[in-house]
Amino acid sequence: MLITGARTVDGFATDFYVRDGVFADPLQAPPNVRRVDAAGLLALPGLVDLHTHLRQPGREDAETIATGTLAAARGGFTCVHAMANTTPVTDTAERAEWIRQTAAAQASCEVAVVGAVTKGLAGEELADLEAMAAGGARVFSDDGRCVADSLLMRRALEFAAATGAVIAQHSQDPRLAGPTACCHESHVSRELGLDGWPAQAESAIVARDVQLAELTSGRLHVCHVSTAETVDVLRWAKARGIPVTAEVTPHHLLLDTPLLASGDTTYKVNPPLRTTEHLEAVREALADGTIDAVATDHAPHAASDKAKPFPEASPGMLGLEQALSVVIDVMVNTGRMDWPTLAERMSYTPARIGRVADQGRPLAIGEPANVVLVDPARRAPVDPQTSASLSRNNPYRGLDLPDPVVMTVCAGRVAFNRHPGLVPG
Ligand SMILES: [Zn+2]
Repeated sequence: MLITGARTVDGFATDFYVRDGVFADPLQAPPNVRRVDAAGLLALPGLVDLHTHLRQPGREDAETIATGTLAAARGGFTCVHAMANTTPVTDTAERAEWIRQTAAAQASCEVAVVGAVTKGLAGEELADLEAMAAGGARVFSDDGRCVADSLLMRRALEFAAATGAVIAQHSQDPRLAGPTACCHESHVSRELGLDGWPAQAESAIVARDVQLAELTSGRLHVCHVSTAETVDVLRWAKARGIPVTAEVTPHHLLLDTPLLASGDTTYKVNPPLRTTEHLEAVREALADGTIDAVATDHAPHAASDKAKPFPEASPGMLGLEQALSVVIDVMVNTGRMDWPTLAERMSYTPARIGRVADQGRPLAIGEPANVVLVDPARRAPVDPQTSASLSRNNPYRGLDLPDPVVMTVCAGRVAFNRHPGLVPG
């Protein structure tokens, strides 16, 4: 396949000859090669998500490896990190290998397996990190739950220091709110009569963890940063040279606490949607690199798990198909960020954090052919019914957002396409 005339983020028009999974020299493309006219389109390196819940095994009614990665390809992702909070939990080398093999047979993009930090996500005893690392896992996380025990977190970071792995923490002190906490603690939660999580439940754990990262030299990754206080802690830690990276979700960049007034449980998520000052803080931090990456925290839920009173509904929302749309609208279209920085935050840097060798590579001859063609000007109201996900908890439904992805090529294979000029073959 020969993609002609696409613009790169640096502004150059380039041809890409995709052959045997890599970019080859366009001058060597045979005359009868399949051609895609990409004039007017932008070529981004395939996006990499550090934080995806694929729900398989255990909740195949909400999502599967096949449907979740198809949603990923529709969103421009060529690699997702599959979180460990499945049923059973991914806490052994055998379970990690099962996901790897199922993905190899069924996935539309690369799947990097995240191993659990503790057995059964119970927060009591380290899982067999060594065996999972030997099988190829580079990221470990109890996401969905916080590794609250300081000594366990220290041991996990010591393992990270010894092996080059990274510990991705869901930073939320479970003891800083009651069992019915379900939103951001603020005047809005008080008006709605809901129990809230204070911003400090997040930043207090991050403050502890960056000091443990300094103590151990183990790499720490902070999942879904949502508060201004966490941004302050990260700035302090990075200024000290502590090995910490951080991600922000599309929903924490765009959606705010007052949406909860509708009572719609689609907006229930952990950490919760915050107020405007926090949104501004995480946007600024993403622009200046204090927050290193965008990650979706794509969290599909069956309708029955959301059709409950707000405090009891499952937390989480979809993200893979609209992540790029949100980042373009909130960050690029407002002038906060340019395209080369978007490529850093959504491809190069997350690939580096997760140590995924074939992802986040330059769009150059000899490199793996992971590329997404986008039309930055295309917009459309978000229609959840057209989603590839099995779930419908899409917080962007009805919003007029960029609808940019035209084609996603993963390891040289067309994983998603709506370019009219590409004849299947
Ligand atoms: Zn989480």
